[in-house]
Amino acid sequence: MKYLLGAISLLFSFHAVAQKTILHCGQLIQPEKSVMQAQMSVIIQNKQVVQVEKGYVAGGKEDVVIDLKNATVMPGWIDMHVHMESETSPTKYLETFTLNPADHAYNSVVFAERTLLTGFTTVRDLGGSGVNISLRNAIAKGLIKGPRVFTAGKSIASTGGHADPTNGYRKDLMGNPGPESGVANGADECMKAVRQRYKDGSDLIKITASGGVLSVAKSGENPQFTESELEAIVSTARDYGFKVAAHSHGAEAMKRAVKAGVHSIEHGTFMDDEVMRLMKEKGTYLVPTITAGKAVGDSAKKPGYYPELVVPKALATGPKIQATFGKAYKAGVKIAFGTDAGVFRHGENWREFVYMNEAGMPTMECIRAATVYAADLLGESDRLGTLEPGKWADVVAVSGNPLTDIQVMSKVVFVMKDGKVFKKD
Ligand SMILES: [Zn+2]
Repeated sequence: MKYLLGAISLLFSFHAVAQKTILHCGQLIQPEKSVMQAQMSVIIQNKQVVQVEKGYVAGGKEDVVIDLKNATVMPGWIDMHVHMESETSPTKYLETFTLNPADHAYNSVVFAERTLLTGFTTVRDLGGSGVNISLRNAIAKGLIKGPRVFTAGKSIASTGGHADPTNGYRKDLMGNPGPESGVANGADECMKAVRQRYKDGSDLIKITASGGVLSVAKSGENPQFTESELEAIVSTARDYGFKVAAHSHGAEAMKRAVKAGVHSIEHGTFMDDEVMRLMKEKGTYLVPTITAGKAVGDSAKKPGYYPELVVPKALATGPKIQATFGKAYKAGVKIAFGTDAGVFRHGENWREFVYMNEAGMPTMECIRAATVYAADLLGESDRLGTLEPGKWADVVAVSGNPLTDIQVMSKVVFVMKDGKVFKKD
């Protein structure tokens, strides 16, 4: 009897292993080769792509065939700059005093699902309270629907810097946050702040190398870490296998961060020729976030939407990002797709494709930025970014041809993550 049961369970597990899912793709975009081909099949087994073939492969009786003959299929998109815990609103600045971590957690469940269903199967969360770490874990366990998350946990800033969580507070509420809360001054505290992220369970490090737009502080671009602090952050991060993403609008902050060896510059608004030259020399990526720049510039025109100190920064900084991106791309700086979703409504991330395209990046390159290049910046090229054998089966399909009309990136008809279908219209 025992042997019989063993044989039956073996048979069933064998059956589960053998079943394949076959996607019949009207058009298939393979960003690693910069090609789009008609009538292709993507064959998936055990959460992974096992084969890509020409024509519509029939498969066996036990296989599942999904008809995407009227769609354009490509690898799932990766957004390298999101904030899953929150979303813009005119009352956002009050939320620090009215919402508990549990509120942020419930909100993030909604934002995560919306992000996934609009085609983004992977995101890099560049800063929150730490709820973003629990969110990553809940999604990975399959408890809730969302993209695969790589998270920085809490961003690291210097005192009064862009990611100091108590900027603009009344003095008795301000306190004196330290490395544990992501506020660090001097090389020792910077090391401690990185090690704390390791202890918290972060996947990477995010620093705010310059001032920022939405923090209640005067400068949106001044350098906020010294060279020795940046070196301490980058070298400690290296010890723990972390990559470092550096928020920066100002050129001096970017120069210091790139020289110290950060892996990406986020926003990059006021970068000059020397910064571009340094980034090319070092292989540093730019993650542009044009969508956020435009959204922030628009919201700043609505009376009372942002605090007084924020408005002039938003007007001066936001609208410039698209032109800077265009220049950097033409200069040969490496680009990875990223939006800063949360600063605008989650689920509108696709707009970045349109804005990048408008600024002079061909559509296929925009798709490569959100797939192969993003995977490279994550350090996950063996598992993400293409639909080749051995890669995770993360797939998105849109209705229409994005190579002739980039607006169709908003018309997502199919989403698969890890071989599981989350959306099929
Ligand atoms: Zn951001």
